[in-house]
Amino acid sequence: MSALIDAIDILDRILTSSEKISEAKPALGTVRDQAEALENHVTELQAKYNALQITHDKEVAELKQQIAKLQEVKPSALFDVCKFCLQPTGQLLREDPDKMFGNMGANVRFYKCTNPACGKEYKRAD
Ligand SMILES: [Zn+2]
Repeated sequence: MSALIDAIDILDRILTSSEKISEAKPALGTVRDQAEALENHVTELQAKYNALQITHDKEVAELKQQIAKLQEVKPSALFDVCKFCLQPTGQLLREDPDKMFGNMGANVRFYKCTNPACGKEYKRAD
């Protein structure tokens, strides 16, 4: 990079003073070489960026799909950890508004444990 800046400075001095015109040709050659190198570098970076963009878009799409799938799973489909046997086998039977706080959106959920060794019913409030 500094070679390019140096060459530009030389050309600038030559154009300003017009004394050392013989130095213009090599300086111009350096400018051309450096500009070509930069152009190649930019092309390389563009290709890398495009590849990354494709990967990124694909990954974002996959993550969005996963989020959508997770959001599809309703809480009622999930098993609760049973209060008695502490296994994730509590199956939601029903959900009612809480008698005291139902008007505030609070619910009471009734579960039955599907663990054959337990089978107890219990409830949970929000
Ligand atoms: Zn249980």
